[in-house]
Amino acid sequence: MTLHIYNTMTRRKEPFVPIHPDRVNMYVCGPTVYDYIHIGNARPQIFFDVVRRYLETLGYEVNYVVNFTDVDDRLIRKAGELDSTVPEVADRFIQAFYEDIDGIGVRRASQNPRVMDNMPEIVAYIAELVERDFAYESGGDVYFYTKKFHEYGKLSHQNIEELQLGIRIEVDERKENPEDFVLWKAAKPGEISWPSPWGDGRPGWHIECSAMARKYLGETLDIHGGGQDLQFPHHECEVAQSESITGKPLANVWMHNGYIHINNEKMSKSLGNGVLVKDLRKQYQPAALRYFMLATHYRNPLNFSEEAMGQAEKSVSRIANAMANVRHALQTVTSGAGAESGHEQEPDEKLQAKLAGILDTFDAKMRDDFNTADAITAMFEWASEANTYLQQGAQGARQAGNLQALLDAFEAMNDVLGLVMEQENELLDDEVDQLIQERNDARKAKNWARADELRDLLTAQGILLEDTPQGVRWRRK
Ligand SMILES: [Zn+2]
Repeated sequence: MTLHIYNTMTRRKEPFVPIHPDRVNMYVCGPTVYDYIHIGNARPQIFFDVVRRYLETLGYEVNYVVNFTDVDDRLIRKAGELDSTVPEVADRFIQAFYEDIDGIGVRRASQNPRVMDNMPEIVAYIAELVERDFAYESGGDVYFYTKKFHEYGKLSHQNIEELQLGIRIEVDERKENPEDFVLWKAAKPGEISWPSPWGDGRPGWHIECSAMARKYLGETLDIHGGGQDLQFPHHECEVAQSESITGKPLANVWMHNGYIHINNEKMSKSLGNGVLVKDLRKQYQPAALRYFMLATHYRNPLNFSEEAMGQAEKSVSRIANAMANVRHALQTVTSGAGAESGHEQEPDEKLQAKLAGILDTFDAKMRDDFNTADAITAMFEWASEANTYLQQGAQGARQAGNLQALLDAFEAMNDVLGLVMEQENELLDDEVDQLIQERNDARKAKNWARADELRDLLTAQGILLEDTPQGVRWRRK
């Protein structure tokens, strides 16, 4: 079965055929780096990371570009508030972005181009649009002449007349028409600016993506992605700019992830911006955040609540514990008596067939427009299979082979979804209990140094202890 992807442009699931047979060029609009990323920013980061991982398991080399918008009004305002400069604000929040995505198991993109580093290309792009009469200068600004791109509205499936009626269009006396959008903004006195043929200023938001997508990935992308909120006007404007110049589609496939609601309310700036990834990953297991995002189909809205996160933690622990137990059993077998017969340990055929079935289901779900919600079900089937196998107290010469087969199947799925993150669950529950018992004994014996040492050891493994009157409680970080 070929991979099918829902294309926003055609409103259909289509078989995916990349331009180059073994390579995929994917561009996803990244954050404006004026603050810490919030839960709404995390969804495309986690989801498109999974898209990239899955494409890699299919054998594609994925050139994955996520841009940083490092100059805009919000950065300028923030620099003022912090008595800092725009580049300093950008550097600071790019660093924070990396800490956050690393912390939630999102692999870094192949490239993260920044607007400030691509100014000559952006200015040249605007100049090309002006020269070909798709854009005009007015009072130091440059605007795109929207009506000259006859297909404007085709991505968001609206026509210009509807747009003029239906949306709030910025009124600016420098624009010739209300639907025109800005490509270059003249600098106000004292603002950060770059030179251009139209005077000092800075680029508008939409043009940066058209210019950087072309520079880093070429004229037509295999996949262009982002949050649904970017579909209009951002992506519609990207289409207009790019396609007027090249006459080719900007992207063969347009993918958009759905909105996030917070406690059943639509995410607003005041509400959503408060739920920061840096806090969430302290509050919950980072893997639970991935689970929460991936357990719903990416095109559907997601409702964030403490309850949902609590549920996600439980679910992810079920999978993680099964995996840790299999790994532990395998370590015991290979370091113990089974070691001498470590060669040619083929797994049982029955188990092999079951695992193959689970992996087939996983794959079929992922190939159906990245249906991570159903693919996760295959991971639960795997966990049940693993638990059943371990409970049988399986023995015999094939045990190492069976355990290894279980582990391999797990890793094939986890490489894509990343629901069990490295360094998590290094310790089994039993081992944690045992270390806590040792610590209790050390405390009773007033061996405080040993007790502290054990506490540090547990902390280093992500186990948090809480001394209560009823005894020690623990949880995983
Ligand atoms: Zn963009």
